[in-house]
Amino acid sequence: MIVPEFFKHLLVEQYGEKAELIIDGLSKRKVLSFRVNTLKSNYENIEKILGDKKIEYKRVSWNENAFVIPDSLAKKEIENMEIYRNGEIYFQSLSSMIPPIVLNPKSKENILDMAAAPGSKTTQIAAMTNNSCFITACEKNKIRAERLKYNIEKQGVKNTYIMGVDSRNLDEMFSFDKILLDAPCSGSGTIDLSENIEKYFNLDLVKRSSRVQLELLNKAIKLLKKGNELVYSTCSILQEENEDIINKVLEKNNVEVIPIDLQNFEEIPKLPTKIDGSLLVRPDEYYEGFFVVKLRKIR
Ligand code: SAM
Repeated sequence: MIVPEFFKHLLVEQYGEKAELIIDGLSKRKVLSFRVNTLKSNYENIEKILGDKKIEYKRVSWNENAFVIPDSLAKKEIENMEIYRNGEIYFQSLSSMIPPIVLNPKSKENILDMAAAPGSKTTQIAAMTNNSCFITACEKNKIRAERLKYNIEKQGVKNTYIMGVDSRNLDEMFSFDKILLDAPCSGSGTIDLSENIEKYFNLDLVKRSSRVQLELLNKAIKLLKKGNELVYSTCSILQEENEDIINKVLEKNNVEVIPIDLQNFEEIPKLPTKIDGSLLVRPDEYYEGFFVVKLRKIR
C-alpha cells in the first residue's frame, strides 16, 4: 500500500489522528452494493429472488432499496440474472445513493443534474419520483454521455433530456426547481490504495478539481430558482474540494446551508466537517468517502 505523501499530509492536517482510520478504510476492499430500480421492481421481489438463489445480502436502515452483497464474488452471478439484465437493479455504491435522498425530488419538478454520467443519480432521481419529474442531465464527456444514455434507457427512465455540454456554459435563461451538482473531483474518498495511483492522484488534480467545482457551483446557484435548494456532493474527503468551496459561495450571501437531517443517516460512518449541517462520510469497507451539503438560494 502506497499513500502519496501530499495526501497523508493533508489527511493529518485536516483530521489529526483520524487520518489513520481513513487510510485503513481506503485500503479495505469494498463490499458490493446495488439499488433496486423501483421503476421496474421493488425490494420485496428482489429479496425473494436473492433468497431463492441463496445469495447472502444485508440491508441498510436509511434506504429500503439499497442491498449490500458481502461476497463480492457474487457479482458475476448477479450480472447473469434477469434482474440485472432487465435493469431491475443497478450497481451503485451506498454513499452515492445519499445525494438524491438529500435532494428529495418531487413530482413535476424541473431538476438539473449538472454532472450526470454514468447516471447513477439521474436514474435514482427518476425512480424516486416514479418518472414524474423532468430531468436535464448534463455531461461534458461524449463517451460518458453515451453510457448515461444507455443506463437511462435500460432503467426505463422517462422525461429526461441529455445535454452533452459543459454545464458551465449553460444558458442562464434556464432555471430549475432543484439542482444536483455531483461534482467532478479528485476521488480522494474512493481511491484504492492497493493500486499505483500516484500517476494521476496528486495535488495538481486536487487544485484543478477545486477550480472546476467552484465554477460549477457558482453556475448552479445562477441557474437555481430563488428560494429553492441544490445539493453539492463529491466523492472527495479533502477540505479543498468540499468545505472551502462551500465557504467561498457562502461569502457572497446569496445562499445558506440547509442542515441535513443526520438522524436519517445514523448508521453511516462520519468524519467531522467544517460546515455545520453537511455530511462527510468516512470511507470503510461499506462506504466510500463522500461529502454532501444542501444549499438554499436566498436572493
Ligand atoms: N453523477 C454521476 C453519477 O452519479 O453517476 C457521477 C458524476 S462524476 C462524479 C462527474 C462527471 O462530471 C463526470 O462524468 C465528468 O465527465 C463530468 N464533468 C466534468 N466536468 C464537467 C462539466 N464542466 N460539465 C458537465 N459535466 C462535467
